[in-house]
Amino acid sequence: MAKKAEPELPWFVIQKHDATRLHYDLRLEVDGVLKSWAVPRGPSLDPRDKRLAVQVEDHAFDYLDFEGVIGERQYGSGAVIVWDIGRYRNLSEADGEPVPLGDAIEAGHLKVWLEGVKVIGGFALTRTDDGAKPQWLLVKIRDQQADPDNDPVSARPESVLTGRTIEELAAETGR
Ligand code: MN
Repeated sequence: MAKKAEPELPWFVIQKHDATRLHYDLRLEVDGVLKSWAVPRGPSLDPRDKRLAVQVEDHAFDYLDFEGVIGERQYGSGAVIVWDIGRYRNLSEADGEPVPLGDAIEAGHLKVWLEGVKVIGGFALTRTDDGAKPQWLLVKIRDQQADPDNDPVSARPESVLTGRTIEELAAETGR
């Protein structure tokens, strides 16, 4: 059997969710669960933008590629599409040493490299308010992938899995 040069990278997903308020759920696979943030305006590739990201409850890993409609009586009811998905690399460091992502989240600052379809490159998440629903800021790192002229949130609204927009999904399912 061939030996793997390095373990497989963990997954991330960004789900577009038409709940009470439309938002984008950024989820990072960490230690078998999906650490999750609700980002009302979605990610920006412009390093000057600071996007609010409210940390929400962890989701089960199985939710990674969920696309469909959450029933009306359930929490988060509304349509969900997989807006972007891929692997990520943890770039978090402290004093020049790598920091496991779970520890970086605890400490309130992390850096990841996202290998998505629409969103590629380095992003930083920094906690700014540690309440019941901790508030973070999601910011594009200044790297080769930074691009203020490319706004995938408006230019690429469709699911990367099925090509459907969230409106098409909702219409198909009659909600
Ligand atoms: Mn959500």
